[in-house]
Amino acid sequence: SMFIWPDAMLTPLLFSPAHWYDPALFLVLMLLPLPFAAYIDILLEHRYQRYYNAIRAVIAVTFIVISALYFSDVADFNETMPLSNLIAGLVALFLFAEIIFDTFVRGHRENKIIAIGFSIFVMLCILEIIHLNLTVHPNDGVFVAMGLLVLLVVAVTYEVKRISELRAETLEAQKANQAKTTFLANMSHEIRTPINAILGMDELILREDTSPSVREYALNIKSAGTALLEIISDVLDFSKIEQGKMEIINAEYDSRLLLNSIITMIKVRTEEKGLNFVRNISPELPSKLVGDEKHIREVMINLLSNAVKYTPKGSVTFTVRHEKKGDGRCDLFISVKDTGIGIKESDMGRLFNQFERLDQKKTRSVEGTGLGLAISANLIRLMEGDIECESVYGKGSEFTVRLPQIITDETPIGDIGTGDPDASLILQEEEPECLEGIKVLVVDDNAMNLKVARGLLKKLDAEVASCRSGAEMLEIIKRKKFDVILLDHLMPEMDGIETLEKARSLEDSLNKDTPFIALTANAIAGAREMYLENGFSDYLSKPMTLKELSDTILSDLGRKNGA
Ligand code: ADP
Repeated sequence: SMFIWPDAMLTPLLFSPAHWYDPALFLVLMLLPLPFAAYIDILLEHRYQRYYNAIRAVIAVTFIVISALYFSDVADFNETMPLSNLIAGLVALFLFAEIIFDTFVRGHRENKIIAIGFSIFVMLCILEIIHLNLTVHPNDGVFVAMGLLVLLVVAVTYEVKRISELRAETLEAQKANQAKTTFLANMSHEIRTPINAILGMDELILREDTSPSVREYALNIKSAGTALLEIISDVLDFSKIEQGKMEIINAEYDSRLLLNSIITMIKVRTEEKGLNFVRNISPELPSKLVGDEKHIREVMINLLSNAVKYTPKGSVTFTVRHEKKGDGRCDLFISVKDTGIGIKESDMGRLFNQFERLDQKKTRSVEGTGLGLAISANLIRLMEGDIECESVYGKGSEFTVRLPQIITDETPIGDIGTGDPDASLILQEEEPECLEGIKVLVVDDNAMNLKVARGLLKKLDAEVASCRSGAEMLEIIKRKKFDVILLDHLMPEMDGIETLEKARSLEDSLNKDTPFIALTANAIAGAREMYLENGFSDYLSKPMTLKELSDTILSDLGRKNGA
C-alpha cells in the first residue's frame, strides 16, 4: 500500500501544493524496505535484531541525507535514485540471505514456505530495480506487484498452517492438564490411605485411659494429621471438580444443627485470635431444608476460616437469612464480613482462581494453598447458586453467597447463635449408637486399615472378625454367619466387586442375605449408584468416624429387617 498510495487520486489533496506530489512518491519508496524488514524480524522471532536495527539506521540515514540534498536543491531525486535503489536492493538481498540462512542453515524449518515466497519476491524486486534503471520506459512496478502477490499467498498459507498447529498444541496442553489432574487425584488418594490409618490409630489412643503426656502427644498428632488431611482433601476435591466428578447430593438437613456446629467451630477460632464473632442468624429460617449439607458446610467454613485468617483485629460477622420463592423453594443467603486486610481492586479478578494467593507480602505468614475459594466457587456453581465479593483494601471484605434450597419444614428455627452454641445439639449430633451383639466381618488387604476398622468397631462393642483378601472371605462365609460384612473395594487379585459377585453365587454360603457395605478411600460422583448396582447395600468412605460407621451399619440392618 505504501507503494501505491502516492499514485492514488487522493495524493494531490494530501500533498498540496502540487509540487509535493513528486517528492512524496520518492520519499515513500525510500522507506519501503522498512515494513518488510520488520515482518522478517518478527517472523524470525528477533533472532537477528542487531542486523534489523542496523538496517533501520541505514535507511533512516539515507532518507535524511537524500531528502536534505533534494530540499537544499543540491541533487534531484532522479539523480539520487541509484543510491536509494542500491540501499533497497541491499536490504532485500540481506533479508533474503537472512531468512535462507535461518531456515536452511540454522534449521528453523517452520519458516520454509515464507523463505521460498520471500526469495521469489526479492528476486522480482531486484529485477524491477534493474529494469527501472536500464529501461527507458519502465513497467510501473509489475514485477514488484507479482512478487507481492506471491508473498501474500505464501504468508496467508503460512498463517493458516500456524493456526491449525496452534489448535493441535492447545489440545495437547488440555491432555497434559488432564494428566496433571489425574496425577493429583492419585497422589492425594495414596497419601490419604496412610493418613487415615494414622488418624484412626490416634483416635484409638485418645479413647484409651492414658497418661496426660501421651494424651497430649496424641492430641498433637490429631491436630497436625487433621490439617494434613484437610489439604489433601482440598486437592482431591479440586481434581474431582476438574474431572467433572464432584457429586452434589441433595438431602433433607436440619439447618439448626448445621449452623450450630459451624458456629461452635468458628467461635473457638475467633476467641483464640481475640476477634469479635457477630452472629446474625435470622430466627425465621426454616428448620428443615433440602440441599447438599456437606458442601454447604464446606463453603461456610471456608469463608469463615478465611475471614478469621485474614483479619488481624476487629470482627467477623456471619449473617444467614432466606427469601421464599414460592412452591416450597427459597434462596438461602449467607454473608461473611470481616474487618481484615481486604483485597486490592486489581486482585479481584484472580480471587477465585485455583492455587492463587493474593497480596503475598501480607499473607505469606498465613497458612493456605489458594484452593479454598476456587473449590467453594465451583461447589456453589454446581449447587446452582452464586458468590460475590466486595472489599475495601485495608478495611475488610464481605463475601455473599446465594444458594437455592427446598423447604420441607417451615417451622422457624428461633434464636440461634446469639448466646453460647447449644451443647446438647452438638452432643446429639456426635455421639454414635453402640453396636452391641452385632457380628461384623471386615475385609481389607491393608493391615493398618484393618486394625483401625477393628479398633473402631470394638469401641462400638461390635463382635469383630477380619481377613485380608476376597479369597479368604469366601472361605469364612461358608463357616460363620455375620450380620454385616464391610468389604474394601480396591484389593489386589480379587477386588471388592468381584468378591461380592462370587459370594452371592456361592452355594454353601451361610451369608446369602447378609448386607455388604463397600469401603472406599475415594468417594467419587456416582459412587453410591455404582455400589448399589453391584449388589452392595451401602458404602463408607475412609476415614470413617465412629458415628458414620454406626449409622451406616444400623441403617442397613434396619433396612434389611424392615424389608
Ligand atoms: P488460601 O488457602 O490461601 O486461604 P483461598 O482460595 O481460600 O486460599 O483464598 C485465596 C486468596 O484470597 C488468599 O490467599 C487471600 O489472599 C485472599 N483472601 C481470601 N479471603 C480473604 C479475606 N476474607 N480477606 C482478605 N483476603 C482474602
